[in-house]
Amino acid sequence: MCVPPDQIVRIYSTSGTAGTPAYIPLTASDLENWVLGSSRSYGASGITSGQRIVSTYNAGPFVAGAALAAFERLGLLHIPVGIGSTERLMRAVELLRPEAVALTPSYAAYAVEWADERGFDLRGSSVEHLLVAGEPGGGEPAFRTHLERSWGALVTEAMGVGDIGPSLFGECERKQGMHLGARGFVHMELIDHETGAIVEMQDGATGELVLTHLCHRAAPLLRFRTRDHVRVWTSPCKCGRTSPRLRCIGRTDDMLIVRGVNVFPAAIREVVSAFAPDVSGHILVRPQTPAVKQDPPLPVAVELGRGRAADSSLADAIRERLREVLIVQTRVDLVPWGSLERSEYKSKLVER
Ligand SMILES: [Zn+2]
Repeated sequence: MCVPPDQIVRIYSTSGTAGTPAYIPLTASDLENWVLGSSRSYGASGITSGQRIVSTYNAGPFVAGAALAAFERLGLLHIPVGIGSTERLMRAVELLRPEAVALTPSYAAYAVEWADERGFDLRGSSVEHLLVAGEPGGGEPAFRTHLERSWGALVTEAMGVGDIGPSLFGECERKQGMHLGARGFVHMELIDHETGAIVEMQDGATGELVLTHLCHRAAPLLRFRTRDHVRVWTSPCKCGRTSPRLRCIGRTDDMLIVRGVNVFPAAIREVVSAFAPDVSGHILVRPQTPAVKQDPPLPVAVELGRGRAADSSLADAIRERLREVLIVQTRVDLVPWGSLERSEYKSKLVER
């Protein structure tokens, strides 16, 4: 900690999914910078003052809570409903007629199934805009198209990094990656996650995202390795913003190496999703050993679409497509509709 304790106004916690939970102290100016950066990230999406937004995060002790203050800052009417009851979410959508909903991409997909089963007219609802965050997926073209068609709404994503700040990045209506909303507060770099060597920031470059606090006073971090594997763009965006953009490809924690090729489960899901409606879009990678390095073929459970029967030509087509696009040899096991776990928060893509 770099300031006297009496300057701390709030302490958040990390979720501790990748280790022991850590405490994150903030001064008033740290908190203000977080809210301002988040406001820029969410503002990029095109939501504007006077609109209503329903949020579904049980942020509680976590940094994501600070991002919610961005909604008031933007002049939105914020209606928090939390997670745990899709009934409550849909009642708020029906009765309070929000223009926007903030949720994880997994929950957005779950809500589509929920609405289908109950004959709830999602496309006919007031929702014009989904702001998705919390996990990769919202920027994957096939998955995004599925959500946009099913909700009848524009889908843009945002991304924060627990230890650095909430909603640091947010996508604009051009949907060409998330702009760095926290520009000036946070410096971004790319590195090769194995060697640590710096990767030059240019259009299309990929690597592990490394972030440095520039203005943080309470507990600034220097060159923090996020474990997020991202693709960046530095050329100006058609929206007029000049800040660099990125898309998260996956967590380096989830990455597997199959015969020398890096494979991210989220990338597998993206390829498989293109086979909808024959598939539901839910997948589960089931490595045969706990190690990162895997011998081919890599087993992947692919859930069938509603009312679809398993057929070996579909499995073959998916396997072939994965080989072409990701250069990975897989064993595709088709499993019945509804057999893979749904989540109101984040989806698990790997079963170790
Ligand atoms: Zn833009």
